Amino acid sequence: MRKTTNRSDAIKVASSHLITTCATVAAIILFVVMGARVLPESLGFTAGTAPKSGLIAAFLLNIAIILFGWRRAKELAQAMAALTLAEQEAHRNAYVDCVTGLANRRALVKALAAALEAGDGGAITLFDLDHFKKVNDLHGHSAGDDLLNHVGTLLSAIAPRRSTIARLGGDEFALLMPSVGAEGAEDLVGNILESLGSPIDVGAFHAHLSASAGIALLTPSQSPDDMLRRADIAMYSAKKAGRNTFRWFDSHQEAAIKARASLEEEIREGIENDEFVPFFQPLINLESGATTGFEVLARWCSPRRGLVEPVDFIEICETSGMIAALSMNVMRKALIEARDWPAHLKIAVNISPVQFRDPQLAERILKMLTETGFPARRLELEITEGSLIEHPEQAVTVVRSLKNSGMSIALDDFGTGYASLTQLQALPFDRIKIDKSFVATIGDNEQSAAIVRTVASLGKLLCVPITAEGVENEEIRLRLAEAGCQDAQGWLFGKAVSGQLVRDHFKLSGAGGQGALDPLEGTDHERRDGGRRAAARARLAAGRKW
Ligand SMILES: [Mg+2]
Repeated sequence: MRKTTNRSDAIKVASSHLITTCATVAAIILFVVMGARVLPESLGFTAGTAPKSGLIAAFLLNIAIILFGWRRAKELAQAMAALTLAEQEAHRNAYVDCVTGLANRRALVKALAAALEAGDGGAITLFDLDHFKKVNDLHGHSAGDDLLNHVGTLLSAIAPRRSTIARLGGDEFALLMPSVGAEGAEDLVGNILESLGSPIDVGAFHAHLSASAGIALLTPSQSPDDMLRRADIAMYSAKKAGRNTFRWFDSHQEAAIKARASLEEEIREGIENDEFVPFFQPLINLESGATTGFEVLARWCSPRRGLVEPVDFIEICETSGMIAALSMNVMRKALIEARDWPAHLKIAVNISPVQFRDPQLAERILKMLTETGFPARRLELEITEGSLIEHPEQAVTVVRSLKNSGMSIALDDFGTGYASLTQLQALPFDRIKIDKSFVATIGDNEQSAAIVRTVASLGKLLCVPITAEGVENEEIRLRLAEAGCQDAQGWLFGKAVSGQLVRDHFKLSGAGGQGALDPLEGTDHERRDGGRRAAARARLAAGRKW
């Protein structure tokens, strides 16, 4: 757009310049002709004739026109020079990265198109500096720019002749190597990563760099954009592989990304179509065997995929910004479902670390409680250690605000993150849930058993009850009880079931909001009703108490 404007400006200036020059030349010719007549008359060289005043006036006007034309021509020449400079600058901005002086994306795409058209093979590599944001955050953007320049210099020194080195924005660089084979490209990228790893001094700070790289061989049938996308896919594969390494593009990566994009779209539609529902997994008191509540676990009733477990959609929801909508939707349904269940049954809802970034989280949950009529004292929110790490001060504020409103807070998946004892002391947790990875191996791994015992002791000292997740057999249950854990959940007691099944159980047991539910032994009502008790037994025999 800017280029078009410059060109039309240049045409206008050039036209003006031409017209002014022509007018000035015409005035000069006129000046010569008139001067030949007027000057001799004025100087008295022509006897008996006096110069006519009109002719003199025209002659003077002619001089004025010449002076004006000369000045105008000078101005126009300056304008033309400025426009030429602006065009050169615009061209530079269009093809050169302003921070490093390397080629920019547009220049790279042009070079890539030429290399693909030439059909001489070659490779394109994308580099992404690992954790570069920290440099900007800790040392400022000027230090960050110095570091980018250092990387540009290093790439220029190592890259073979005829290469195009570009910065694509942020901390992302590209290296186009025409005519280079797979082995040569791999060696070169390996050298670059190794060189980047050497410690460097940039300004006042000492930096250790690393990068993730993705390489794709040039395929003439592909467009420049396709080639960049392939290198990008390979680069993200290198990041997933732990960074400071490179990966080649392969078509499986592309298929996996397409499948993920398709799943993400389906999930988005599923949320819009209200396909996500709460399931309820019972929480059991280890001493009495009574059900104390349920953890709400989302299920996706997908018309295409059937009943989908959270492991297949939660991570996508978290990374695509859908988790808050999904979580609040499922929570609302769970609260409405469980509102009329026995009053002693708590409902535990998982809050994602992503949701914890929302400073309005406490207000939103309180509003939902008001709207659904669910009592705050029956709601337990499970937060993971990740929520505490990202924004510790905000986490403390939100947790205190929720606690003050009557809700209880559980620290979920304990042992898998980085929660410190200081955080355990600072935050008023009502429960700690030991991650199932320790619980499941308590029987055959002495370290897991030691961790469970230590956490149980910690709970005793802090006066916080401990819940064990992932209890799958009787041996684990006994060992947890010995260790001093208060509550447990897992397949031994029941998988997550629909709200309808929980309601059916209440009717069967006749709990009607009173007393502890004991699916193994049944309630008094069950004992009076042999038929229904037999049905409960049959369900238990099928491996499910709920
Ligand atoms: Mg949980």
